[in-house]
Amino acid sequence: MKNSMENIISLAKRRGFIYPGSELYGGLSGTWDYGPLGVELKNNIKQEWWRRFVRARSDVYGVDSAILMSSRVWEASGHVGNFSDPMIDCRKCKSRFRADALDIAKGCPQCGAKDFTDARPFNMMFKTNAGPVEDTASAVYLRPETAQGMFVNFKNVVDSFHPKLPFGIAQMGKAFRNEITPGNFIFRSREFEQMEIEYFVKEAEWERHFATWQSAMEEWLSFVGLAGKYSLREVPEGDRAHYSKRTIDIDFDFPFGREELYGLAYRTDFDLLNHSKASGHDLWYLDEETQEKIVPHVIEPTFGVDRTVLAVLVNAYAEEEVPSGDGAASDGRARDVRTVLKLPARLAPYTVAVFPLVQNKEQIAGRAREVYGLLKEWVAATWDGIGNIGKRYRRQDEIGTPWCVTVDYQSLEDDTVTIRDRDTMKQERLAVAELLGYIEKHIS
Ligand code: ATP
Repeated sequence: MKNSMENIISLAKRRGFIYPGSELYGGLSGTWDYGPLGVELKNNIKQEWWRRFVRARSDVYGVDSAILMSSRVWEASGHVGNFSDPMIDCRKCKSRFRADALDIAKGCPQCGAKDFTDARPFNMMFKTNAGPVEDTASAVYLRPETAQGMFVNFKNVVDSFHPKLPFGIAQMGKAFRNEITPGNFIFRSREFEQMEIEYFVKEAEWERHFATWQSAMEEWLSFVGLAGKYSLREVPEGDRAHYSKRTIDIDFDFPFGREELYGLAYRTDFDLLNHSKASGHDLWYLDEETQEKIVPHVIEPTFGVDRTVLAVLVNAYAEEEVPSGDGAASDGRARDVRTVLKLPARLAPYTVAVFPLVQNKEQIAGRAREVYGLLKEWVAATWDGIGNIGKRYRRQDEIGTPWCVTVDYQSLEDDTVTIRDRDTMKQERLAVAELLGYIEKHIS
């Protein structure tokens, strides 16, 4: 089956994008390690997000708060009391499930028995201890979301920068959830990354800002190549988080079904009010125009980094019939199948690959190394000199490299090279001096 999860997981492992966590020791469920190409893809996503939502705006402030926070944060936020999924066990085979994702009338998916425990809440926060003494006072949690780091720094940012409403605080980083049933590759893991913005507004203006952020999220989705590939779902009241008055989930059709990619929530003044009460610190905001003290309301766009990586990979993956030996000597009739990742050029691990047409001609190899050295000063470039040109194109297609540059015999005469486009597989001849301009013009 084309574009199945198995194909993507296998390519991700084979080509160094994503490996199972602790694989050497048989793996650790719900964890994944990004390899050399995966970390480039992931970092590109994160950098582009930061550039768009923090650096390019004057109303959003970035922070990077500690993963370990006082447990009082999680008491105030409601996570200690509420952040749980219902858990149910099969009495016969002892398998454990999320009760809301199980049809108990059908029996245990593992052994078929219909003998279950009652469902009971299971708190998904990982708990540990800070310092050498393991007691209640030293208990800390690994953060289950990045959001609270922004709320607890609200006053700091206001005091340092005196921003006018509306303004936002953004951060990206790891979050940890002890998911009862992690699965579907990196879709649901126990350790993952989020990119979130808490946007503080006047209560009367929340609807307008909610709509603006919905558009901003949709523009981002176009940027990562997912325009028209997602659907918006209004989350009904009963399914919303306890703090939210309106939530839209942005769903994507993953190979295992339509599932949440991102969320946009109106969190009201829930968080700032609760932290004010619990900490005893005044988190009011003084409105300079009216001289009124108000507690701002919050619009929260939240983006899962790993789910973005997965959606981008699923969307980019293709198997196509192409003339055999594309780029190498070919009769033009024989057909071949290529696997290609049609990644947006700005997200691809490598922007360009450089090849010498032949390896054993020192002048060609030498000039190719110079071209490689020149390009890699400015863009993510890689070198490949193994096998014939057709094989090298296939390898670069499989990892999503948008352009391949080949230095050949003609290069030695007129200092031109060929540049081959991943998607059209067409080649053009350009002067070496034109290469960076060409890439700059075509990158998207
Ligand atoms: P789900 O309903 O799928 O469990 P959620 O509604 O609990 O997700 P949020 O609390 O809204 O998720 O988290 C914000 C974002 O973080 C999600 O939109 C998703 O992209 C990401 N995310 C949440 N849980 C996980 C996880 N276990 N693994 C990977 N990403 C996750």
